[in-house]
Amino acid sequence: MYKQLFSIIKSKIPKISKTELIALQSGTTFIDRSILKGEIAYPEKQNINYKFSETKLNLLLDKFNINNKIYPNNKTIIQEFANNKLFSFLIDEKYGGIKLSVNELSDILTKITTVDPALGVIVMVPNSLGPGELITLYGTNAQKDYYLPKLSNGEMIPCFGLTGPNNGSDATGNIDKGVVFKEYDSMGNSKLKIKINLNKRYITLAPVANLMGIAFELEDPNNFLDNSGVTLALVERKHPGLIQNTYHNPLNAGFPNGTIKGTIVIDFDDIIGGKENIGNGWKMLMECLSAGRAISLPATANASSKVASYGIYNYIQVRDQFKMPLSNMEAIQEKFNNMIYNTWVIQSSINMTNDILDSAHSPSVISAIMKQQCTERARIVLNEGMDIHGGAGICVGYNNFLEKYYKSVPIGISVEGSNTLTRSLIIFAQGLNKSHPYIYDILDSILTNNHDKFKTNFQNIFKMSTKLYFKTFFSKNGLEQQVLDYATLTNFVALKAGALKREQMLSGAMADIFGNLYLAISVKYYHKHYNVSDKLTNYVISRLMNENQQKINHVIDNLGYEKYMLMHMKRNVKPIYFEDERSIFSEIVSNPKIIASIKDNIYVKGIIKDFEEIQNLDESSVQYQHLKSKIINVDETKNPEYNDELWLK
Ligand SMILES: Cc1cc2nc3c(=O)[nH]c(=O)nc-3n(C[C@H](O)[C@H](O)[C@H](O)COP(=O)(O)OP(=O)(O)OC[C@H]3O[C@@H](n4cnc5c(N)ncnc54)[C@H](O)[C@@H]3O)c2cc1C
Repeated sequence: MYKQLFSIIKSKIPKISKTELIALQSGTTFIDRSILKGEIAYPEKQNINYKFSETKLNLLLDKFNINNKIYPNNKTIIQEFANNKLFSFLIDEKYGGIKLSVNELSDILTKITTVDPALGVIVMVPNSLGPGELITLYGTNAQKDYYLPKLSNGEMIPCFGLTGPNNGSDATGNIDKGVVFKEYDSMGNSKLKIKINLNKRYITLAPVANLMGIAFELEDPNNFLDNSGVTLALVERKHPGLIQNTYHNPLNAGFPNGTIKGTIVIDFDDIIGGKENIGNGWKMLMECLSAGRAISLPATANASSKVASYGIYNYIQVRDQFKMPLSNMEAIQEKFNNMIYNTWVIQSSINMTNDILDSAHSPSVISAIMKQQCTERARIVLNEGMDIHGGAGICVGYNNFLEKYYKSVPIGISVEGSNTLTRSLIIFAQGLNKSHPYIYDILDSILTNNHDKFKTNFQNIFKMSTKLYFKTFFSKNGLEQQVLDYATLTNFVALKAGALKREQMLSGAMADIFGNLYLAISVKYYHKHYNVSDKLTNYVISRLMNENQQKINHVIDNLGYEKYMLMHMKRNVKPIYFEDERSIFSEIVSNPKIIASIKDNIYVKGIIKDFEEIQNLDESSVQYQHLKSKIINVDETKNPEYNDELWLK
């Protein structure tokens, strides 16, 4: 029987590319796996030793002029940050770096981004995919000794170039090629070298970088070597043939981003890790990508959501219309609740994920969930904030604390695995193979033709699925029940095997439920450790579970005959009453711990500082009225069409 099953399943699984297989083998699992086992797990709370001087950071942030775009005109701040070791947070002390815990790195990135998203991007890149971590993990000793001290002290500004006009989401699909050839000197001695045709675009920091990490496909048509494939190398700005003569302008956000082009010749010593790492490039990138996905992009989403929520919280109390503050209007309260809901989810999930990463896990599916969920939810927060801020959110100037984030939000959504692809392909369709306790082993047994391994794992999955299925009939209610239902649903959806890659609406919905469960667990975790508000915690979890129940029902409706076995899991979606919304708004404004927690890590400057000050003033005072008119004011620029002298006549 198992032989037949083996053949049937083998015919259903799609061809798995080498890059996909490497992605599957990279990283670890944690809560994602527990969820698919129908269980809830939590990490240990981490005690963090904070290293970077807060005063130093504040001084640097204070100097930064919010109203000046950094690139191309005010780029000295980049070198100043580099000189102050802000680009060295992944590099060991031994090489002059300040290797931080994930918690501290995330806090610092959040704080910097609360001043300006472009500033956040500038610090984020060297501390995620910049070649610092790649050199640390895979570099030869000579590369470590030469590059890491220079990256730590700011002598070298790094960037990493993977993307080009023909390789975007399919990152290695049609990547730049490098061909091995024999070079002869005047004495007739030969040496193997690599000639690369570079055409990279969208590369953050490229216009100012002097150390480029580059990815290319190494081809060896004359079989000089044993290996070929995606390879990573280091190239310095002065390298002959390298062209860095153009830049892009990503939504006018103000960070340097551009191209790396040219035909260059490199030595094997320029490959990160040397000859031995030829063909390992994709694996190396996959292992390092988790920082960008799980730490940096969520931290920037956290920053924009915190500033938007805190700013709007203050603004709705100061701005009045129809003889009342905006905060008295239910329509505003409903939108504001939505901002706090999503901000709470973002900050709780970051808190838990940072603890997971600081306890030496590197869960790849959780990284993808964090990247996609946090950046999407930050967009919701900003959309609501823009509606509430009205015209003041639309006209650019001193008082507009939302515009720079609103403009930058699609950047986080598109980069490092665009969200559409991440949701509909990576988190569930591929993630299932990683996170499920038995599916990868079944896949592996088929790929390696191992019938015994297949039999053992098939028996395991069958036992687990049956047990979980029967458990779903004995409703426990709450999050535990939903986790159990989802694990069961997953086992049914998994029967689609390779078709899941095509059925992206289904895998997208399954990814949403997976993500929401992870977020709900994180909200519980956050509450356990900070105990800010029972009421808010319950509200946030209920909303996440409501979103999920609707999606679970929708998925079941869209299944084939198997849906009839799952009808009992189509549970009622508990309504959130208008009264709940009123009550949660009143909890947010009356429980100071909530806003204090949202405000935590915001660098208070400019209009945000004005908001702080007005809270301490008596409404009837002249100072209050003065500050109020400053807050509701919108920048005015002299009209060039208007001729003062003409009108005065
Ligand atoms: C501001 C900025 C900074 C960047 N910084 C860097 C950097 O420093 N280094 C670097 O190497 N790269 C960088 N990138 C590149 C970035 O990683 C890519 O833009 C990203 O991978 C998406 O590629 P693309 O823009 O070509 O979109 P495309 O690949 O053309 O995708 C278009 C749309 O199709 C969707 N899609 C694609 N394939 C699938 C699929 N199989 N299933 C479902 N949906 C799919 C995508 O999700 C997206 O919505 C940067 C990009 C930007 C805009």
